[in-house]
Parts: sequence; structure tokens; C-alpha cells
Amino acid sequence: MYTMGLDIGSTASKCLVLKDGQTIVGQAAVPVGAGTSGPKRAIEKVLTEVGITIDQVVATVATGYGRHTMKQADKQVSELSCHAKGAYFLFPNISTLIDIGGQDAKALQIGPDGKILNFVMNDKCAAGTGRFLDVMARVLEVPVERMGEEGEKSTQQVEISSTCTVFAESEVISHLSKEEAICDIINGIHRSIARRVSSLVKRIKVCDEVVITGGVAQNRGVVKALEEELKVSIQSSPLAQLNGALGAALFAYDLAIKAVPEKN
Ligand code: ADP
Repeated sequence: MYTMGLDIGSTASKCLVLKDGQTIVGQAAVPVGAGTSGPKRAIEKVLTEVGITIDQVVATVATGYGRHTMKQADKQVSELSCHAKGAYFLFPNISTLIDIGGQDAKALQIGPDGKILNFVMNDKCAAGTGRFLDVMARVLEVPVERMGEEGEKSTQQVEISSTCTVFAESEVISHLSKEEAICDIINGIHRSIARRVSSLVKRIKVCDEVVITGGVAQNRGVVKALEEELKVSIQSSPLAQLNGALGAALFAYDLAIKAVPEKN
């Protein structure tokens, strides 16, 4: 039985197919989100990878900022619920979840049964989100996917003190004009985003095990800087960006087994 989860984000479209609610058989992330061809392309990519047609998918759940645009989904579920569900599936001992996406950052406190106990969110300001990194990557002419490894080469501390993305961008330009090393500037950017996210995370109770998801979780410089700020070790998975889609596919499986009761 195949079920599909679709996470239509502000910045990227993610699709994941699960077999029997257990095994991930296909996944795709397309770097354009709601209102673009991204969702359709992500679905097509996954169906081709799995070698099935959409008719073989028993149930689909959509989540993310653009979830209501996906009328053909069987259900729309909030990002918070899908992120909690996906992360609990991957990390059954999770207590704290940090999700940093393209346009928001969230921290969730998760109970031993996977339920959300508390959460905080920043969706008002680009600082502390992937957008901040995307803006800086463009100014530095470094692909956002390479920022993590570039920042690791840093040997000198460069401070980015403005929290506002626009002012921070001017600071980066000023560092560039002083011929500071790009790796040092990137490291400063990572520490800046980590300070911003950690002040959000500290508003909920931070307990072991801490897990990070969202596209930005793929940037190991940000994860390391966050570990230093929060003084905890943070778990991640290669599925970090697909976590919301995984949660959605698990909800789709719950829907599917409710619709087809097991025969005695
Ligand atoms: P949303 O759900 O809001 O669309 P995502 O969780 O998909 O956001 O994260 C998108 C962000 O992840 C981008 O803004 C970008 O900064 C970051 N990102 C995407 N891919 C990578 C990568 N390979 N390495 C590092 N950062 C990435």
C-alpha cells in the first residue's frame, strides 16, 4: 500500500512515498515552493523513481505553507503536526524539535508519545530562517548548499551583529569590501542565525534528545553553531528537509488504514 506526503513550502516542494506506512520508497525536493511548478515536479519525480502511477497511491496528505493549493490531496494537515509525526518516526526518543525552513523557524517540545506539548515559532522575520542564508549566499556568490563546508574553513572570527536581514546584508558587503575571507564571513553568518534561532528555542523547555529538521538542517555550520549556543548535541538525518513530507505520508497511511479496515 503506497501513501504520499506532500510538503509545499515557501521555498521548496517536497514529496515522499511510503510503502505500508513503514518504508520510504521515493523522495524528491524541488527548490521552488508554493505557487510554482514545484509540487507537480516533485510528485512526478517521485512517481518515476518508485515506478508507479498516481492511481496506485491510496491516500495523499498535503502540508506546508501551500497545502491548501493541493486540492487533489485527501487531507491537509498543519506543518507542526506533520513535523512532529515525521521526527517521532525517525527519532522515537525525541524531546525537542527545531525546524528551520525557508521562511520560518519553529521549536517544538514533544512528549514521549510523540504529541506536541508546546511550540514557538518565528514567521515574522527573515533573520533566523533559510531566507537569511539565501540572501547572504547570493551576495557572497556561494551556493547555499556549499555554505556549511565553506564556513568550516574559517580561522578568524568575523561578527555579523545586525539581526535585521537587510542590515546584516550591508554588513556582509562591508566585510567583503575589507577583503575579509569568505569562509570567515560565512562562519559569522552561521553564528548569527544560530543566536537568533537559539533565543527562540530557549522559550520552550530544551531536553534531550534534540533533533533538527528543515532545509537549513543540511548546513552543518548552522547546526554546529546552534549546538554551541544551546550547549546540547543535536541529531539530524539525511531526510531533514523531507521530514514534513514524511509526517504527511504517515498521516496518509493512518487515513488509508481507517478507510480499509483489516479483514478478520
Ligand atoms: P520551506 O519548507 O519553507 O520551503 P525548507 O525546509 O525546504 O523550507 O528549507 C528551505 C531552505 O533550506 C532554503 O531557504 C535554504 O536556505 C536551505 N537549503 C536548501 N537546500 C539546502 C542544502 N542542500 N544545504 C543547505 N541548506 C539548504
